[in-house]
Amino acid sequence: MLVVMNQGASDAQVSEVIQKLEALKFKVNRVDGVVHTVLAGVGPADGLEPSEFEVMAGVKECHLIVSPYKLAARAFRPEGTVIKAGNVEIGGKEVIAMGGPCSVESPAQIELAAKIVAEAGGKVLRGGAFKPRSSPYSFQGMGEEGLQIMRAAADKYGLIVISEVMDASQIPLMIKYVDILQIGARNMQNFNLLKDLGRINKPVLLKRGIAATIEEVLLSAEYVMAGGNQEVILCERGIRTFETFTRNTMDISAIPVLKSLSHLPVVADPSHGVGKRSLVLPMALASVAAGADGILVEVHHDPDRAASDGAQTLKPEQFKDMMDKLKLIAAAVGRSI
Ligand code: PEP
Ligand code: MN
Repeated sequence: MLVVMNQGASDAQVSEVIQKLEALKFKVNRVDGVVHTVLAGVGPADGLEPSEFEVMAGVKECHLIVSPYKLAARAFRPEGTVIKAGNVEIGGKEVIAMGGPCSVESPAQIELAAKIVAEAGGKVLRGGAFKPRSSPYSFQGMGEEGLQIMRAAADKYGLIVISEVMDASQIPLMIKYVDILQIGARNMQNFNLLKDLGRINKPVLLKRGIAATIEEVLLSAEYVMAGGNQEVILCERGIRTFETFTRNTMDISAIPVLKSLSHLPVVADPSHGVGKRSLVLPMALASVAAGADGILVEVHHDPDRAASDGAQTLKPEQFKDMMDKLKLIAAAVGRSI
């Protein structure tokens, strides 16, 4: 249930509506927009008459939201959401480039990655300190030391940091060093982790699960938002299909679909989407053409010696080339990068 208040509605009128929603067992999230206050009532059922609210003083309109997600729905904030992380805005006119290695390996490696990303115009340094690996015998990440290395290099080059949180127990540590917490594809439906991330006040980037439908992605975003954290960035990173040539199938169409169904910013990760570095550039270009608010790619000074995901990791000159070409595509769709 969404109630849009009239321009200039009084606090008493807003409280009246909140009380009515709460009496009907709705949890109410209030957003004070520039013009209108919007009340989103999240409740067990939507069996209500909008007209019951529309007749109340100060109410402009009321909508039943039929989609199972409400806070993540486009209708909740039709103008779209811009998320501020450090000095970076995601979801605005500027397309944000995020780059770095799959895994943090050493200070020297991250220093080089930060330099490559910053000099080419990237804004966010990525790198995994806690790695979800298919095999327990593969490199599992450097942990806190990795986060410290990321923070130092990002600060030196004026970047912000994104890194993956694998478990709720890591949240306090991550918050100390990281500007955006990444929820990996394998954790997209780890509902307890999503609930815990709903209680923090830092942006999270939610990756699409390897076999998740778009509705499931949005319901996972809803978990975080229902907990109180409205700062969710969605990320298309490829899904598993019958195709074996690419590591995953990069679902470019998910980008405009997510943008139409939700007000949340959408980032594309073509590296995990295709798994092969030669295919990252065309998928990155296609993603921005399709409306992505950001690009998340893996880049390493020597990808053939990377500790993980080397095959899909760009070489420095490829990252630079991608950024140059993205500028043209961004301009063609009325954006900048
Ligand atoms: C990653 O970003 O390195 C990663 C593990 O991503 P995903 O969760 O999309 O596989
Ligand atoms: Mn990776």
